[in-house]
Amino acid sequence: MYQEQRSQLVEAAPAGAAAAEDRPAIQAAERPGDDHVQPVSSESLHRTITGIITIAPFIGLGIAAWQLWDGLLHPSDLAVFGIMYVLTGLGVTVGFHRLFTHRSFKTSPAMRGLFAVLGSVAIEGPVISWVADHRKHHAFSDKPGDPHSPHVNCTAGWRGMLSGLGHAHVGWLFIHTDRGCHERYAPDLIADPVVSFVSKTFLFWAIAGLALSFGLGYAIGGTVDAGWTGLLWGGAIRMLVVHHVTYSINSLCHFFGRKPFATGDESRNLAWLSIFTFGEAWHNNHHAFPTSALHGFGWRQPDISGWVIRGMERLGLAWDVVYISEARKQNKLKAAAAA
Ligand SMILES: [Zn+2]
Ligand SMILES: [Zn+2]
Repeated sequence: MYQEQRSQLVEAAPAGAAAAEDRPAIQAAERPGDDHVQPVSSESLHRTITGIITIAPFIGLGIAAWQLWDGLLHPSDLAVFGIMYVLTGLGVTVGFHRLFTHRSFKTSPAMRGLFAVLGSVAIEGPVISWVADHRKHHAFSDKPGDPHSPHVNCTAGWRGMLSGLGHAHVGWLFIHTDRGCHERYAPDLIADPVVSFVSKTFLFWAIAGLALSFGLGYAIGGTVDAGWTGLLWGGAIRMLVVHHVTYSINSLCHFFGRKPFATGDESRNLAWLSIFTFGEAWHNNHHAFPTSALHGFGWRQPDISGWVIRGMERLGLAWDVVYISEARKQNKLKAAAAA
């Protein structure tokens, strides 16, 4: 359902940044029905929680800046940041995205649980909500119904461009009129006892991840002070960076970069972002072949998440990995050239 639906409304745009005045004007005339949308029990409560999760890491950034100014940064802080960034980043990219949303490979229930937990520690919401929103994004990419398109319902010009990017980056998190209905978009995960359990106990894993940052700081630095600064760097600063790197896929990768495949949407490959996103910034490739375990095509397109999946396959931890043949890629490239 969500894999191959393509927009009929958006013209294929040329490679490079979409100039503000060139952006397709998409109106909300064909918005899907309410049965596609996940109802929210208390919008003000959700907005308050989202606001705290969004702003708190910036307070952490202020404290970290003061710490740096005073020359108090410890090597253990950077180690904790690095460990937590890699664990939670892969939890989102390999787990939430490629495994749970797109079923790019299969793995054991224990590994499914591990990836569900690691992605939850990133504090981007429970896994079932994340997957439902992202599948809806693929079903209505840059069309009415897409939860976070920078193009839908935006006015022309620079002001419209900035408001579209702001909506796609973080604004959509405060809006509940386009979120993916869990029963409609993630019935397979609701039926999965492991994933369903981790999704329901999201708050526990989010707090456990912060406790882990403290524990790592204490274990590596050897003092309680190192535990607290480990919490700052492995918790708040890591959340800030992982969040905004993830959000950049929704905003920047639907606006800036190259578009080798004619996907019928505005998804783009943004090379400089590919390392930080563990390969997710090859986003036009991904929209062209959503189930592909690899988002980077060839050695010039580094894709750390794809390499992790390949490594798991070699170790017998992943199987039925989806690879796209060179012939399919070439056919789609030819179609884009002919368009
Ligand atoms: Zn996208
Ligand atoms: Zn996707």
